[in-house]
Amino acid sequence: MFDSAVPSSPLKQTVLDDLLISLGQNRTLWAPRTEPDGFCRLQLAREGPLPSQSTLTFIPLKKLLLPPREAVWVHRDGCFHAADEPEPFAVVGVPLCDLQAIWYLDQVFADDVPYRARRAKSLLVGMSCEPGLDCRCDGQLMPLAGDIFIGQERVWAISAAGDALLRESGFSAPVLDVPLPWPEGTAEKRQDLSGEQFYSAADASIWAEEGKRCLSCGACSVVCPTCYCFDMQDEAAVDGTVTRHRIWDNCFFAEHGEVAGGHDFRPGRANRLRFRMEHKFFGFGELRGQNSCVGCGRCRKACPVDIDLDRIAERLIGEAAS
Ligand code: SF4
Ligand code: SF4
Repeated sequence: MFDSAVPSSPLKQTVLDDLLISLGQNRTLWAPRTEPDGFCRLQLAREGPLPSQSTLTFIPLKKLLLPPREAVWVHRDGCFHAADEPEPFAVVGVPLCDLQAIWYLDQVFADDVPYRARRAKSLLVGMSCEPGLDCRCDGQLMPLAGDIFIGQERVWAISAAGDALLRESGFSAPVLDVPLPWPEGTAEKRQDLSGEQFYSAADASIWAEEGKRCLSCGACSVVCPTCYCFDMQDEAAVDGTVTRHRIWDNCFFAEHGEVAGGHDFRPGRANRLRFRMEHKFFGFGELRGQNSCVGCGRCRKACPVDIDLDRIAERLIGEAAS
């Protein structure tokens, strides 16, 4: 038996290695790997060493839970058929900010059958990280999803499933009152933009300035771990089979705000940029008021023209104060 989160008794790396290998039994195992082109991606971890700390993947793990294109149902021979059951999988080496992002998606898709089915089959193992210059994560922003966390040669259970799995693997009851190792100083870099400062600046010149530079490429939204816009498309085959697909959409695309009759709720790039910032900082619907920017910095790296929501926030705060 091993004490799993006792600061005075760090675990041996071999124990952690054995735990990670056991997670891959009966599950497809994914882990981040940096490739020769310099980009870190989630890869099938069939061979090679498993990570000992997390690395931020350029495309976040939402892609496994909310695939870019998925069949929701098929209509064939006069009957509707549900989508195929997902296979069990585990992801090891998830950074803390991405575990927050999954918590956020869990709220958004709380009643969504395909998403819930994938989450029920997923096992998420977080690991501590080395924060980069673009990181602005904040442990107080929202709770974490996930099952197990590994860092500083210790193991935490962060869900009932994680707790059960650790016990099966020979760990004693995990100690929960040791704080997780959040990177220091990153939260201080965040901009504290209030709703009043944002909503009273609807006509601020920065929207036109930044909107003029924005290419509407949508890269910032694709890489964002909490962006989830989707569209539905029905595909009819010649034999009469109809498949309904859910595909990623993007609030930067010109047709995103268009409705029947030709009206566009968000004409122009400045409108769409402001819309995305509103969604990130202030949320919509039941999550109104929840800032969903987990501070991963992916959008800043992905944007080809260096548009930065935090820099916009900083300017709005400055103009409100002047
Ligand atoms: S808005 Fe940018 S920094 Fe914030 S969570 Fe999305 S990609 Fe990360
Ligand atoms: S990545 Fe930059 S240029 Fe592309 S849509 Fe986002 S803000 Fe605009």
